[in-house]
Amino acid sequence: MTTDERAEGAATPDLDAVVVGAGFSGLYMLHRLRGLGLRVRVFEAGGGVGGTWFWNRYPGARCDIESWDYSYSFDPELDQEWEWTERYPAQPEIRAYLEHVADRYGLREDITLDTRVASARFDNDTGLWRVCTNRGHDVTARYVVMATGCLSAARTPDIPGMERFAGETCHTGRWPLEGVEFEGKRVAVIGTGSSGVQAIPVIAEQAAHLTVFQRTATFSVPARNRELGAEEKRHVKETYPDRRRLTRESPTGTTVVRGDRSATEVPPDERRAAFEQRWERGGAGLPAAFTDVLTDRRANDAASEFVRSKIREIVEDPETADRLCPRDVPIAAKRLCVDTGYYATYNNEHVELVDVRAHPIEEITREGVRTSEGTHRYDVIVFATGYDAMTGALSRIDIRGRHGLSLREKWSAGPVTYLGLATAGFPNLFVVAGPGSPSVLTNVVVSIEHHVEWLVELLERMDSAGVRHVEATEDAEVRWVEHVNELASRTLYPEANSWYLGANVPGKPRVFMPYPGGLVAYREACRRVADNDYEGFSLT
Ligand code: FAD
Repeated sequence: MTTDERAEGAATPDLDAVVVGAGFSGLYMLHRLRGLGLRVRVFEAGGGVGGTWFWNRYPGARCDIESWDYSYSFDPELDQEWEWTERYPAQPEIRAYLEHVADRYGLREDITLDTRVASARFDNDTGLWRVCTNRGHDVTARYVVMATGCLSAARTPDIPGMERFAGETCHTGRWPLEGVEFEGKRVAVIGTGSSGVQAIPVIAEQAAHLTVFQRTATFSVPARNRELGAEEKRHVKETYPDRRRLTRESPTGTTVVRGDRSATEVPPDERRAAFEQRWERGGAGLPAAFTDVLTDRRANDAASEFVRSKIREIVEDPETADRLCPRDVPIAAKRLCVDTGYYATYNNEHVELVDVRAHPIEEITREGVRTSEGTHRYDVIVFATGYDAMTGALSRIDIRGRHGLSLREKWSAGPVTYLGLATAGFPNLFVVAGPGSPSVLTNVVVSIEHHVEWLVELLERMDSAGVRHVEATEDAEVRWVEHVNELASRTLYPEANSWYLGANVPGKPRVFMPYPGGLVAYREACRRVADNDYEGFSLT
């Protein structure tokens, strides 16, 4: 509480800030808010810290941005003391890193685990937020920060008969802590997005039989993951300052080298050689070989056809290869998957691929899955069916702003934010990596750090100016949403039925949610707002 508030006799909140979620966002937010001397409580639904990396324990789970980029940059000492062992570390290692961060900065004492925030309501009379949890906490706070994650609201499709299945079911994003035994079992995986593509090759190594139910074929590129040798580890540490600067200056928050020519300008053999080189290098940088893969249909077709040719080369059975080739989606307009042995897995005799567009799943029975072709018997069904992305975690909380305004209702036609950070009618409520921000189109950790730092500076300046409430104006958010839509319309993103558009959730409004202008332009927009006395926010 500021001195001004005390002087004015404003209601005293229990806390200065409540942060919801203890993943990359919540942990860093807590650390920085404490740095301002604020009293903060983090509520986390999971039984540990780590967010995504607490929940996603499925076999094969790993990041697809290189370890040295997919980590915090705020403390050079942390960079030097933590040792990544792989190019793309697996979930246990990223989780251990976040556990280490929680311990190193003494964050745990302010985090309440196993506790879900059920509601957050703004009280017009006191000007404070009242936050209630499923475990009976009922606290008031001046600020609420939603660090609830873009991909944390796991979604299982509504297939009739699910409750009847006698075997085990699990969702990749809610993996049982005790693990799942696949050895010698008949397993079904439903879904071939990023998580499915990572899990399928590992499950196939253990299961007696694996059926993959695919609705939409997926573009995936090889990770070419590897252990880091002593020399490479030393080199990474030595070059951290440069790497961190490069990621901050890059549109995607990575050190991927971006091509500077149009794919349509170069002769076909040169174009293929450029894609080939990126395919061999591994990782999600393939579309960045040229400037226009995401904006020009011909450039995209060339990249898409290159990957399709690789699928046909790898997969021995031509019919299976054909089913695995995406045709109705521009490459990278949906999140590009990064895999280890995904396509080759289908060369195993005990692995089959079912195209659910041709043979829809009709129901789940006691024994397994019934499609239009007949019943398949399973011991385990794995749902790799993704998330109610970007808005799901927020809409599962009853958030009410001024005069009882419900966030769910306000966003019923799609999320409306200013800079992805705040929304009109909800003073002092902030979102990290929210809809309208670059988040999922970037290295999310870089986006998160930027958000946290920008918000902390805002709170610092509010405090020193005696400002009690900050709120996005309706005008500013309408303009921002128009700007995001306009940028998206210049790309091929809207052509894919992706979770970026909410297309994976029946009934969800079709709105392109992340900001597609890149981190550099986004940072610049945020900087301008701050420099112009927080233009577009009302400060009272
Ligand atoms: P999260 O890590 O999702 O944490 C949010 C936390 O909020 C969760 O722990 C959740 O339990 C908690 N929460 C939500 N609602 C409530 C509530 N009502 N009450 C209490 N707690 C609540 N990004 C990349 O940039 N590169 C990658 O390689 C990459 N790989 C990924 C792989 C997978 C399998 C997934 C699912 C995501 C991946 N992501 C990747 C995106 C990833 O989510 C972000 O990089 C990052 O971890 C997000 O951190 P966060 O703290 O914002 O959200």
